[in-house]
Amino acid sequence: MVDPDRRTLLAAAAAVAPAALLPAAVQAEPRIVMNDASRLSPTPVFRHWVVPPDPEAQTIAALRDALQAATKQRRPIVVGAARHSMGGQSLARNGLGITFAIDRCEVDRAAGTARVHAGTRWHQVISALDAQGLSPAVMQSNSDFSVGATFSVNAHGWPAPYGPFGSTVRALRLMLADGSVVTASRTEHPELFAMAMGGYGLVGILLELEIAVVENRMMRPRFERMPAGDLARRFTGALRDDPQVKMIYGRLNVTRAELFTEALLVTWRPDAAPPGGLPAATRRGALTGVSREIYRAQIGSETGKKARWFAETVAVPKAATGAFTRNSLMNEPVSNLEGRDRRRTDILHEYFVHPDRFGDFLAACRELIPKARAEFLNVTLRWVAADDLPVLSYSTTDRIAAVMSFSQEITPEGEADMMMLTEALIDRVGAIGGAFYLPYRLHARPDQVRAIYPRAERFAERKRHFDPHGVFRHALWDAYLAD
Ligand SMILES: Cc1cc2nc3c(=O)[nH]c(=O)nc-3n(C[C@H](O)[C@H](O)[C@H](O)COP(=O)(O)OP(=O)(O)OC[C@H]3O[C@@H](n4cnc5c(N)ncnc54)[C@H](O)[C@@H]3O)c2cc1C
Repeated sequence: MVDPDRRTLLAAAAAVAPAALLPAAVQAEPRIVMNDASRLSPTPVFRHWVVPPDPEAQTIAALRDALQAATKQRRPIVVGAARHSMGGQSLARNGLGITFAIDRCEVDRAAGTARVHAGTRWHQVISALDAQGLSPAVMQSNSDFSVGATFSVNAHGWPAPYGPFGSTVRALRLMLADGSVVTASRTEHPELFAMAMGGYGLVGILLELEIAVVENRMMRPRFERMPAGDLARRFTGALRDDPQVKMIYGRLNVTRAELFTEALLVTWRPDAAPPGGLPAATRRGALTGVSREIYRAQIGSETGKKARWFAETVAVPKAATGAFTRNSLMNEPVSNLEGRDRRRTDILHEYFVHPDRFGDFLAACRELIPKARAEFLNVTLRWVAADDLPVLSYSTTDRIAAVMSFSQEITPEGEADMMMLTEALIDRVGAIGGAFYLPYRLHARPDQVRAIYPRAERFAERKRHFDPHGVFRHALWDAYLAD
């Protein structure tokens, strides 16, 4: 793997190259290796172009030039943002990597929407909305990611009772492979809209999205501890019986010996604003609760895992007497719990199961996870309402989402172990009608992808129609969709 310092230097050098030179610069480039958050996807690229906030017409002209040059040179183009997908979904081998350094968010209060540049990160969106007493309707649990990437993976969050992020997007502007710019929505170019939602940038370059926003409120938590087997019923019951539950998540204990025997359900309801009005959004980790030290002490230690569960289920609820704004809760940086041991990496898995099959999911995890070499650090459970619109939909029915975080050794053994665990979990989740999420390691077998995403072939066929020279391609395309 390339030395990270050298990689940073090379990436920084590429980032300052003037955009105007881009299409002509075909020779004598230094070799640049980009990577994603897993640090397991080093990918040599032709260039990394960080697009500055120039006037829009200039940006569009430069993107068109880049597309033309890439088509002529048969090089792939991939737009990425924070590059927290973990299997090369944001990396173009020997191609052009694009990152927008553009922060734009214009609110239409009457419509309950904001027009946001696709490259805008969620903490930038929150900062713009916070000033107007508004908040994103749905986003992921962390605010480092971009809005375009969130649509491209069709992420989900913990505000309730929503479907994935795409279900809250009204319209978008997309540059296709031929350089044309189209507006797509549920009524205008609906096929492109449904393909780009969860389409991993394979249909075109997202420029702008019109997203739903809601009122920012103070929110107060309520913590309930219960046997894990009761969680699905209590989770769905809380949403069905109490319309005041506006945010919700669950957690399960993760010791190898007693995996998934206990659960914590955390429901959040609106609370009165303090006399001086809502406090400004912070990035101080209102949601995380436990410290990085407690979280990281779980690695290789059953005692550490028990201590974290005690902190989560006893100490934090006791200490959490206050309320937080919705924006502060959603404004969590990834760095809050990030590991610092360069010999290990955090790998996420995500599974979506119907609440009625949640017990079978727990049983499969109890059987498979404790045998793995990887250290299981956390699972967060969410509600995702059905949305069958995206061609690559993972929530064709209402689902409970299980977001799992493992700490993996960066060794061939660590990688093989993770591969085998992932395959086995996907087999079991597929057998109960569930789905798995595509932004993580590409460890699923191609037949598993085809079974769980039955419209994948159709997606690939129509992608080829819109992108006949295959200019938008990356590792996920090559692994599962290209043939
Ligand atoms: C700590 C952590 C927490 C997470 N929490 C959640 C969660 O709560 N819910 C959830 O659903 N997911 C979650 N995820 C997954 C996360 O949503 C995805 O990994 C997402 O892609 C991250 O955004 P990014 O900016 O890093 O995207 P990148 O990895 O940079 O890009 C992701 C995809 O989007 C495409 N893309 C990006 N920008 C554009 C554009 N302008 N035009 C076209 N295509 C584009 C890329 O080509 C790529 O295929 C989490 C991941 C991590 C690491």
